[in-house]
Amino acid sequence: MAHPAPKPGIMDITPYIGGEGRVPETQRLARLASNENPLGPSPLAMKAYIDAAKNLHRYPDGMAADLRAALGQKYGMDPARIVCGAGSDELIALLTRAYAGAGDEIVYSAHGFLRYKLAAMEMGATPKAVPEQNLTADMDALLEAVTERTKILFLANPNNPTGSWLDRNALQKLASRLPSSVLFVIDAAYSEFMTDPAYESGQALVDAHKNVVMLRTFSKIYGLSALRLGWGYFPEEIASVLNRIRGPFNVSAPAQAAGIAALDDDDFLQRTIALTEEQKQTMTTGLKQLGFQVYPSAGNFLLAQFGAEAEKIRLALKERGVFVRQMGAYGLPETLRISIGMAEDTDQLLTALKEIKG
Ligand SMILES: *Cc1c(COP(=O)(O)O)cnc(C)c1O
Repeated sequence: MAHPAPKPGIMDITPYIGGEGRVPETQRLARLASNENPLGPSPLAMKAYIDAAKNLHRYPDGMAADLRAALGQKYGMDPARIVCGAGSDELIALLTRAYAGAGDEIVYSAHGFLRYKLAAMEMGATPKAVPEQNLTADMDALLEAVTERTKILFLANPNNPTGSWLDRNALQKLASRLPSSVLFVIDAAYSEFMTDPAYESGQALVDAHKNVVMLRTFSKIYGLSALRLGWGYFPEEIASVLNRIRGPFNVSAPAQAAGIAALDDDDFLQRTIALTEEQKQTMTTGLKQLGFQVYPSAGNFLLAQFGAEAEKIRLALKERGVFVRQMGAYGLPETLRISIGMAEDTDQLLTALKEIKG
């Protein structure tokens, strides 16, 4: 029998597979597959979320006015140019839906965040992966890949899964050399982890260019992955486009309340940064001592080289309750991405690897 056929290209998409985490808990689990916050959610956000339960019978504020005001206040931005989403993931999808379609190209760095390729395919646009240098986005190659059919350039900075990043100078050059008709999406999902003064989130570039946007998320540093809350800072015209095509209530009321509270939780933010720095150092040293190459990472994760045995090692780790992420879909099948966790997680990982190495 005939059945409704999806648009061309949809069935070519390999569904995005998240990090493993669901298994019967018979042993201690080290969940290091999804770059989640090992400290849990921001306590202030959790309290606001619970309080919001009293009003679950009410529709959310479709404009997320209080959350945008709080973001504007914290970062010195015009709230009218902030748009919130159900995760920054939704904003990636909305931007792609609004600006690219069949026949258009979407350019991204070869080992860039996978969502960009999937978003392109979803819209029937052509994904164009640009080779990197030393697992780092190559600014000149990205610019050379841009043609008159290019509608969007996506750049995660720092990038997931490589952990590499471009400094303020490189980002500025990229923004000024890119044709103004091409949308430049700076995905700054790990921005809060960055302490290097040469880093620029993208905020200043959004103010300086009509075609540059910056995306942010509450999933990583604030530990709110389950809530689905992200936001972006846009030129006025682009914000107005997104406000036309997003769902009228795309961000739930508990998410808005938790987000506002999280922005005040500086103590939690600082504790997360300190733990991440400390355990990243311990994990890097431990992996190197075991003979594994580790790439420098600015995020709350490490990319490490395991050679042809990578998948075998991943499965052996899983048997020992340690979940890490396979990187085949990113074109890096000999590496594994390991999120930073608590000291116990680092211990469990290193002990398991020692055992696996024999
Ligand atoms: C985690 C991540 C996101 C998605 O964040 P959500 O807000 O949870 O959708 C976006 N971009 C990058 C680079 C990420 O690593």
